[in-house]
Amino acid sequence: MLSNSLIELDRAHLIHPVASWRGHEKAGVRMLTSAKGATVTDANGKTLIDGFAGLWCVNAGYGQETVIEAATRQLRELPYATGYFGLGSEPPIRLAARLADLAPGDLKHVYFTLGGSDAVDSTVRFARYYWTARGLPQKDQFISLEQGYHGSSTVGAGLTALPVFHAGFGLPMDWQHKIPSHYTYRNPVGSDPAAIIAASVAQLRAKVQEIGGAERVAAFYAEPIQGSGGVLVPPAGWMKAMRDVCTELDILFIADEVITGFGRTGPLFACAEDGIVPDMMTCAKGLTSGYVPMGAVFLSDRLYQVIADHAGAAAVGHGFTYSAHPVSAAVGLAVLDLYEGGLLENGRKMGARLQAGLAGLADHPLVGDVRGRGMLAAVELVTDKALKTPLPAAALPSQRIFDRAWENGLVIRAFGNGVLGYAPPLCCTEAEIDGIVERTRLTLDQTLEDADVRAALR
Ligand code: PLP
Repeated sequence: MLSNSLIELDRAHLIHPVASWRGHEKAGVRMLTSAKGATVTDANGKTLIDGFAGLWCVNAGYGQETVIEAATRQLRELPYATGYFGLGSEPPIRLAARLADLAPGDLKHVYFTLGGSDAVDSTVRFARYYWTARGLPQKDQFISLEQGYHGSSTVGAGLTALPVFHAGFGLPMDWQHKIPSHYTYRNPVGSDPAAIIAASVAQLRAKVQEIGGAERVAAFYAEPIQGSGGVLVPPAGWMKAMRDVCTELDILFIADEVITGFGRTGPLFACAEDGIVPDMMTCAKGLTSGYVPMGAVFLSDRLYQVIADHAGAAAVGHGFTYSAHPVSAAVGLAVLDLYEGGLLENGRKMGARLQAGLAGLADHPLVGDVRGRGMLAAVELVTDKALKTPLPAAALPSQRIFDRAWENGLVIRAFGNGVLGYAPPLCCTEAEIDGIVERTRLTLDQTLEDADVRAALR
């Protein structure tokens, strides 16, 4: 059981990420104590299916012995080695080489970070350095998408387009610009894929003109599927069309695969499925399956050579104490073995089952849209299907739905705007996938009984 003293210590001393500090003081912590496979157990001894893989990260599932052994071995042999001063260690070298082999196109050079936010930061630094090296330092403006999420560092939070990451922080910065998302379910141009792609292309071109032309623009960022914005899946061909505009205008195209990487949507990298090779690609989460922190930036050979030539004998001044950490890299290698040893395959099968199962919820009175790819999905709730009316803010039962799903033995992400998010571990069994769908339906049926939700329903 979770003791009162632990709850008090948490209240008094531990600041939780992206939380209402006062709200959390009142609510107290809900603590997990153990996990195995695709399930987690809370401090009351309740076991739940983790339909969100922690924070879309535990792709390989919990308690994988080979991963635990790899980390333990590395901790014993060499727990730390800096990459500074020309030093190094074996695991990050091997991991970089394997990843370069598996990455799309000429993304042959890997820079390891601590997570996704500093990977995104690193892309901004490399992009600026690259354009300076090419004699075009005035290309210093960056464009990303509304509903996009690119981390919580100052730079990444500015590229992010979720208001809660800006308010009170003086963001975004004046060189950070946004264009509308493809958001198929609520796009003003309708749901026709060709029209959505044409609109996005036109919006990108217009934004480039508005901020001084291509000679001012360094890079455009896109997640292959927007995650924290509500699992927004672009129409097939959208990534390719945006990539082509960037190539034509000589603007770097940066794919943020922090969520979509490592089998989340099916293949190892979603970009491969989209048929594109970005100039840079960021990863984290599934890279180490959440066992230890690590992120990565992949650089195209073209970018790498320009930066290396320009720096010559001088240092490229970018690095962290924990860049290329040997324990994280050893975990990365062990996790990669699992992906290649059948986990990606299982994820693809279970992903198809998850999508089919959730699609079956479309008949529920509260469900307006079901979308996703592979083991990444969302259900968007509405009170009027024809008008796509979101649940009214006062009745928005996100926390209620989250709590209720928990009671029903399911962890989901309940976004504030009435979207339910799913990103289960790739090791899920058929019974666990079916459990996710059944427990969601039960949770929605119970929510339908709430007086405020019933009153809002048409
Ligand atoms: N980019 C994307 C697309 C993400 O989803 C996230 C985190 O969810 C990040 C960047 C930031 O990663 P981290 O939380 O590891 O810093």
